[in-house]
Amino acid sequence: MEKKELIIVGGGPAGCSAAIYAARSNVDTKMITEDFGGQLMLTDHISNYLGFKKESGQSISEKFEEHVKDYDIDIELEKVEKIEKEGEDFRVITTENEFISEAVIVGLGTKAKRLNAKNEEKFLNKGIGYCALCDGPLYADQEVAVVGGGYSGTEAALYMSEIASQVYLINAGEELTGEPITVEKIPENDNIEVINNAFTKEFYGDEFVEGLRYEDRETGETKEIDVEGVMIEIGRVPRSDIVDFVEKTEEGKIISDKHCRTSEEGFFAAGDVSTIEEEQAIVAASDGCKAALSAVKYLKED
Ligand SMILES: Cc1cc2nc3c(=O)[nH]c(=O)nc-3n(C[C@H](O)[C@H](O)[C@H](O)COP(=O)(O)OP(=O)(O)OC[C@H]3O[C@@H](n4cnc5c(N)ncnc54)[C@H](O)[C@@H]3O)c2cc1C
Repeated sequence: MEKKELIIVGGGPAGCSAAIYAARSNVDTKMITEDFGGQLMLTDHISNYLGFKKESGQSISEKFEEHVKDYDIDIELEKVEKIEKEGEDFRVITTENEFISEAVIVGLGTKAKRLNAKNEEKFLNKGIGYCALCDGPLYADQEVAVVGGGYSGTEAALYMSEIASQVYLINAGEELTGEPITVEKIPENDNIEVINNAFTKEFYGDEFVEGLRYEDRETGETKEIDVEGVMIEIGRVPRSDIVDFVEKTEEGKIISDKHCRTSEEGFFAAGDVSTIEEEQAIVAASDGCKAALSAVKYLKED
C-alpha cells in the first residue's frame, strides 16, 4: 500500500493552502479531494478575499487549482470514505483506494444543513435543493421560496430575485440576520417578500414540489405558499463524520488549537471543519498554512 508522509483531505481554501505550504517544505504529500474550491463554488461573487475585488467562486476556485498544480503534488480526485488510526500512522480509505500516511490534515469543510421538514427527502432534486446558485437558473420566471433568513438565505434570496418572478423568503426568526450589506438590499427588490416568524413544517406536491406549509409563530396558524421551487439555506454542518478518533464538539467540529493540532498527534484540522469561529475563505486559507507548517514540524520531530 502506498505510504506518504502527509495526506491532505479537501480542496477548499484550507486544503489548497495546506498543499502549497507542504509542497514548498518538500514533504512527500498526497492531496485527496472531491473538487477544487469547496464551498466557494457555491457563490457567484467573492468580494472580501484579499487581492480579489470581485471574483466569481468558480473563477477563484480555478485559480486555487492552478496554483496547487504548479507544485509537484500527487492529487487524487476521490471521495474519502473513512480515516482510521493505524498504529502511529493513519489509513485513508477512499472509494477506490487505501493509503497510509504519517500525518493527516483535514480541510473537510461543511455541507448544507437539512431542515428535517415533512416530505423534504421526497422532493429532493424534485423542486427542493440546497444551493440557489446551482439550481437557481432552473426557476427562471417562476415563483420560489428560499427558506432561511441568515447569511446564506438572504444571499440566495437576492440572487433568486434576479431570476425568479417572485421570491418568498421564509424566516423562522423575528428578523433577518444575514450580513448587514445583504439584508439592506432585500427591501430594494419588489419581488422579494419576507415572511418572518415562519416555521416551515411540510412540503406538498405530486411528483414535484408544489408548495410549502409553515406555522405562523405569532398566531399558531398553519399557512400555505404555492411555489415551483424551494431553496433551503439554513446553514451548514461539518463534514467530519469520516473521522471518529478525534475530539469533536457536539455539532461535529473537530476541536483544534491555534496550530491546528487536534486531540490526536499527527492529525491536523483546518478551516470550517475545525473549531475556528470565522467561517470565511481567507481564514480557512490561513488555517491551511498553519496546519501545514505544524504538520511539517511534527514530521521533522518524528
Ligand atoms: C453560499 C456561500 C457563500 C460564501 N461566500 C463567502 C464569501 O463571500 N467570502 C468568504 O470569505 N467566504 C464565503 N463563504 C464561506 C467560505 O466558502 C468557506 O469559509 C470556505 O470555503 C471554507 O473553506 P474550507 O477549505 O474549510 O472548506 P470547504 O470550502 O468546504 O472545502 C472542503 C473541501 O473538502 C472536500 N471534501 C469534503 N469531504 C470530503 C471527502 N469525504 N472526501 C474528499 N473530499 C472531501 C470538498 O470536496 C472540498 O473540496 C461562503 C460559503 C457559502 C456556502
